[in-house]
Formats: sequence, structure tokens, C-alpha cells
Amino acid sequence: MQIPAAFEYERATSVEHALELLHARGPEARLLAGGHSLLPMMKLRLAAPEALVDIDALAGELGYVREEGDEVRIGAMTRHRDILESGLVAARLTIFTDAEKLIADPVVRNRGTIGGALCQADPAEDLSAVCAVLRARLVVRGLDGERTLTMQELHRGPYETTIGDAEMLVEIRVPLHMGGGSAYEKVKRRVGDWAIAAAGAAVRLEGGTIADAGVALTAVGGDVMSERAQASLVGRPPTEDAFAAAATLAAEDCSPTTDQRGSAEYKRHLAHELTLRALRSATARALREEI
Ligand SMILES: Cc1cc2nc3c(=O)[nH]c(=O)nc-3n(C[C@H](O)[C@H](O)[C@H](O)COP(=O)(O)OP(=O)(O)OC[C@H]3O[C@@H](n4cnc5c(N)ncnc54)[C@H](O)[C@@H]3O)c2cc1C
Repeated sequence: MQIPAAFEYERATSVEHALELLHARGPEARLLAGGHSLLPMMKLRLAAPEALVDIDALAGELGYVREEGDEVRIGAMTRHRDILESGLVAARLTIFTDAEKLIADPVVRNRGTIGGALCQADPAEDLSAVCAVLRARLVVRGLDGERTLTMQELHRGPYETTIGDAEMLVEIRVPLHMGGGSAYEKVKRRVGDWAIAAAGAAVRLEGGTIADAGVALTAVGGDVMSERAQASLVGRPPTEDAFAAAATLAAEDCSPTTDQRGSAEYKRHLAHELTLRALRSATARALREEI
């Protein structure tokens, strides 16, 4: 059946208004951003919210990409397309542009938002790994004020976040210190499809050694971020041996399952290979930045 269960509909005109509507409607209300994840789930009856609070009109208030100090701030209602077309992102946060080129198709990218993508918490969603690699902080607002979360703190598990009933994600703050030396690699069955597996990496070089590193994986279970892979890289020169050791740790740390996209064994192989490729590409970019 492709018809959702009955629901109430409200249209928010500001962040404060959206929070008030969520508060008034209680735990069975859900925000509707681009609708590209929530509406298909409602049609398939995998979600049946009693009320939708449409935040499309907040695309002005929460749709932006701007540099502030040592970070780039991205509003939660920024569409995939606007991130893909941002010159600032392409120049300073290359991993975002890599990933956005590979997310879905132009129709989805025209509507889907970064806030909706991160809050959907789909294990195969690409921007969570991107944000984890760059150690983005997520600003969540409620009626009583704001709190800031790491990517790991945002996700409670697949399709579940730690955002409260009357709270919403308003901004993603991305530090710039590794953004120029970062890359994302993904394998999918066909153009526009979700990842079979994907990996993101970032490195910051200082005097010929890796001073900081980020490694995170998509669609292979376990923690998105591989702390052991990251730690193994720091203090070492950026060599093939260092990358191979980190890729082995990242592949060990994930826990893929066999499904229609591929076997667990194949996905673990991809986790290794894609981590390696992302580290090579991120390092080449970091070296170009140093020149
Ligand atoms: C055919 C297709 C292919 C796709 N392929 C990919 C892919 O390859 N990679 C990928 O990463 N994604 C993919 N997507 C998902 C796409 O990126 C969606 O746009 C995204 O997952 C959800 O964004 P949205 O704005 O549409 O969110 P919505 O569907 O509106 O909302 C998703 C969830 O987030 C909540 N939410 C939305 N905004 C907020 C907020 N500000 N604060 C708190 N909660 C909020 C909603 O209540 C809902 O629970 C695909 C989607 C489709 C339809």
C-alpha cells in the first residue's frame, strides 16, 4: 500500500514556531524537511506520525553555508544541491563535495536537506561519516536553549537520534583544520544508489608527519568513526604502509551484515579498500595545500 496513515499537518514559519508546534503536538509529531526519507517511510507504513510540522518555510532562516572564524557553518535546511554547488565547501571541505556528488540524483538533491539526512540516521546515509571525519558539532535547539553534540552523540542507533520531542537540529559547525585534506570514496550498485560501502578520511600534515587524522565508514555497521585507525596514523609519515595499517584497523572495527547490497565479506573488503583510497586522496590534497 502506497498511502500513508492519516496525519495532521502544520506549517512552521520560524524555528521558534516549529519548536512551539512540536511542544504542543507532543511525541507523535515529526518535522518534515525535504520529505525524501520521511514521506516514503510513511507511504510504506514504516512511520505513522500523528502530526507533521513542515519546516520548508525555514529554508531562508536555516539555509546557508558561511565561514565564521575557523569553521564553516551550515544551516540544517541547506539542500544537498546548495552544498554541492558551494564554492566555499569545494575549496575548504572537499570531502563534502565528493560525497554530495554521489548522493542520489538531482531530484533528491534539490529537496533533501543536510538536517534531514543526519536526523534520519540511516546507516547507509553519507553525510554522517563526512561530519564524523571532520569532527563537526551539531547544534540542537529547544524552547529552553541550545546544546551542541558530536556526530556520535547525535545517533542513538539506526534511524534513532538523541534529539528530544520538542527539539530540532539547527546548524552543523564544521572545523576547517582538516577540511582541505579530506576525501570520500563510495561503491554503489548503480548511479544514484545508496552505498554498498563508503569511507571518508581527512589528514592534517605538519612537517612531513600526520598531525591529525579522521577516518569514518558508511553502511558497514559498528561505530561510524574508527578511533583505532585515526590513532594509528597520528605521528607517522603519510606512507602506503601507514595507510594500509589504518585501513586494516578500520575494516576490523566495522561489523557489516549480508543483505541485498552484498555479502558481509565483500563489504569488509570494500571498507579496507575505500579507506585506503580515501587516505591516499586526502593526503594528496593536504600536500597540495601545504605548497
Ligand atoms: C531515491 C533516493 C536515493 C537516495 N540516495 C541517498 C544516498 O545515496 N545517500 C544519502 O546519504 N542519502 C540518500 N537519500 C536520502 C536523501 O539524502 C534525503 O534527502 C535525506 O535522507 C533526508 O533529507 P530530507 O530533508 O528529505 O528529510 P526528511 O525526509 O524531511 O526527514 C527525515 C527525518 O529527519 C527529521 N528531521 C528533518 N529535519 C530535521 C531537523 N532540522 N531537526 C530534527 N529532525 C529533523 C524528520 O522528522 C525525519 O524523521 C536518498 C533518498 C532517495 C529518495
